[in-house]
Parts: sequence; structure tokens; C-alpha cells
Amino acid sequence: MPDVYNWQLGRRMSYPFEERHPDRQFAFVFNINRCIACQTCSMACKSTWTWSRGQEFMWWNNVETKPYGGYPHGWDSKLLAMLEDVNPGGQTWGYQDDKEHEWPYGSFEGLTIFEAAERRRLEPQSSRALGYLPSEAEWRAPNMHEEVAHGPVKKQGDRPGSVELPEHRVWYFYLQRICNHCTYPGCLSACPRQAIYKRPEDGVVLIDQSRCRGYRKCVEACPYKKSMYRPTTRTSEKCIACYPRLEGRDQAAITPDGTPVETRCMSACVGKIRMQGLVKIDAEGKWQKESEHPLYYLIRERKIALPLYPQFGTEPNGFYIPPRWVPRKYLEQMFGPGVKDAIEQYSCPDRELLAVLQLFRATQRVLFRFEVEKGPKVGEVEVTMPDGRKKTQVIFNDTARGFDAKGEEVARVTIEEPTWTLPAEHLNSI
Ligand code: SF4
Ligand code: SF4
Ligand code: SF4
Repeated sequence: MPDVYNWQLGRRMSYPFEERHPDRQFAFVFNINRCIACQTCSMACKSTWTWSRGQEFMWWNNVETKPYGGYPHGWDSKLLAMLEDVNPGGQTWGYQDDKEHEWPYGSFEGLTIFEAAERRRLEPQSSRALGYLPSEAEWRAPNMHEEVAHGPVKKQGDRPGSVELPEHRVWYFYLQRICNHCTYPGCLSACPRQAIYKRPEDGVVLIDQSRCRGYRKCVEACPYKKSMYRPTTRTSEKCIACYPRLEGRDQAAITPDGTPVETRCMSACVGKIRMQGLVKIDAEGKWQKESEHPLYYLIRERKIALPLYPQFGTEPNGFYIPPRWVPRKYLEQMFGPGVKDAIEQYSCPDRELLAVLQLFRATQRVLFRFEVEKGPKVGEVEVTMPDGRKKTQVIFNDTARGFDAKGEEVARVTIEEPTWTLPAEHLNSI
């Protein structure tokens, strides 16, 4: 297999095809801390793309409760167990002093799904990526175990503190999931018809319906289980990143004038947890430095948003701000070694980071640049950090400004929410 560079793993890895990279890459950040599991995102996607016959159990966007929930059921724990089976005790991260390569989270020393498949090649069921085909029953209940917590059963005399930071003793959290439009997609690698492709302009991964014959190799090989089979057409389908909106030509969106607009699931998000963007990629697959791009800033510069299961090796382009209250070992398995640093920064964001965090869901336009206008000091708060240290956070009433693809200002948010007082004569009126 060819050798490709995976920046999330900090090393080269095997992949069935040579590297080829888009000019820009569709990417997104989800802030888990803010999600209320209202499922508005799931319904926005379903009512747009998957409301027809044969798509009844198809949720391109889903929100599941971790640790027990999953759509399809057990998608991640099953694959983690399979990888462990191929490489017992070896799925670990290390730290090499490698100046030549960027490795923001360390270096993954275990096997990716592609490397694990290579190691298993002697066995008859081998394919290009380690995976499995979920049963019909596993797809049937998209929100099974909703809000079921993990933790010790409370007994009489049990010590209190199940909700004390840094780690709650009884915990759960919501995980929002769409296709990650991976740099090295598992689905694409496995398709015997070469029906799956990555668009050169924005890195969106699509299935050509006219080529697909429904062999479900993509369903088996996608580690996130975001390629789904439709029995009425006998083809597989998946999230299309709402590409008419990315191209700025969705008639249902704000003025379709060619300016990229956020996808349906992003723009409908009630909790304001989602931000989407198109980041610049160079010929070698590196993210070009764009310090004023909100996604580049959050993901590459501040490393506050982390990839989902980077160890699978597909270089997913979905990134998450991890939940503050969840045991770190669990989070590190899910998001890699950057968890501690990300939570520390999120617990007490500095002036600039706090301003950029205000831009989530401030506009339907895709943001390409931000600016922070400085404002006066408005307060101080004492914050308890995850390690118990006390820190003083100084709050300024700064203004975060967001600009679209054409360079026009499309968002302007202040740290202090503006308030208006009704004059006495209008009290009790609306
Ligand atoms: S709409 Fe936003 S807040 Fe609601 S479930 Fe989806 S991601 Fe969470
Ligand atoms: S998440 Fe799955 S379906 Fe989406 S691009 Fe990656 S491998 Fe393919
Ligand atoms: S990006 Fe569009 S197609 Fe993909 S999950 Fe969101 S709403 Fe559905």
C-alpha cells in the first residue's frame, strides 16, 4: 500500500491510494459542552435529505448519549475491540522528537484500520480497512440509551460529589455525529466500484449513485458508520455536506449568491455548538497557516478542538471541544492525548479565545476570517481549574467580528449581551 502522511497521528501510514488533496477542506467544530440533545440538527438533516422510502432508519446526523448510546449500536466499542484483538496492548500514543513533521497530539504507535487490515491479510475475511457490517437491529434504535449515565450506584452513606469538577463520578455526554469527510476515507478505500470520490474543491466525500451497486463495502469500512445502505434503491448513501449550500446556490438559504452558507444541521443548531468552515490545504496535505480563520485558530493554533478517534487513521475533519466533566481516560481514548490541554484552555479561556467562541452560530454564512475589537474591562471571575488551582479570569467587553468568503462582515458579537430596559410607560407591553 502507498505511504501517506497523517498529521493527526504525527506519522506516515499505509493507505490504499496515493495522497491527493483538495484546495480547501470542509471541516467543523462541535462544542460538546453546549449541546442540549434537542435533535434539531438530526431533524433538519432528515427533513431535507432522508425523508423518503427506504431511508426510515437513515440518520446522516445523529446525536447519541455516551458512553452507552451509539448509532448503530456499539459502533465505536466494537471497532476498538477489533483493533485491540489485532494488536493486543499496542494501541498507544507516544512522543517522538521529530522536528521534520508536525504532530500536534503526539505520535500514534498502534495500528490504524488500514494497517490492521494489512496485518490480518493472511486471514480469509481480509479487506482494505478493518471493519464490520452492523446488523439491521443495530441500526434500528438511533437514540438507544438516551441520557443513561455511567457511574457507581448510589448507596446509603455514599460520599456526595458526583457532580464536582474536574470529573463527575456519575456522567454522560452527548456526541453529535455527521460524516467527517475524512482526508483518507475508509469508505472510499473499500469501494470495489470506485463509486466514492472526494471533491477537489472542498474535500466533500460523495457516493456516485450511478456507479454504486450496493455491495456495502463502504458501510463495513467506515469506522464511524456514516455510510448507510438503502434497500429501496440498493445503493449506499451518506451525508453530502449539504453541498448546494457550500456552493452558495441553495434556493432555500439566505440569498443564494455563490457565497458559501452553512449546512442544514449546522445552521439549525439551537445550542449554538457548531461552527463549520472550509480550510486551505496545500499540495502535501498540510493546513495552510490562516491564523485569522476561526477553524484554523481553534483546531490548529489553540488545539482546543480535537479529532474524533484519530487513531482509526482516516484523518477525520470533524473536531470536538471535549466535555469538561467526563473522566479523562475515556476522553483520551476518544479524542487522543490533547484532551487535558483542551479542557484546561476551555475552563478559563483567554481574551481572544473567549471572543472567537462567541462566533458559533452567529450567522448562516460560512466564516473565512475573524477579527477581535478590544473593549473595556467589565469584570473578574475566579475559576477553579481542572487541577484545583484557582485562576482569575479578567473579562473584557470585546467584539468578535466574522467575515464571509467575499470579505464582507456577516457577524458581530460582543462578550456582554446587550440589554434594553423598557421605559416605564411601556412596562407589561410587548
Ligand atoms: S441542534 Fe445543536 S444543541 Fe441540539 S442536539 Fe443538535 S448539536 Fe445539540
Ligand atoms: S466518516 Fe466514514 S463515510 Fe464519512 S468520509 Fe469518513 S470513512 Fe467515509
Ligand atoms: S451536513 Fe447536511 S447532509 Fe450532512 S448531516 Fe448535516 S444536514 Fe445532513
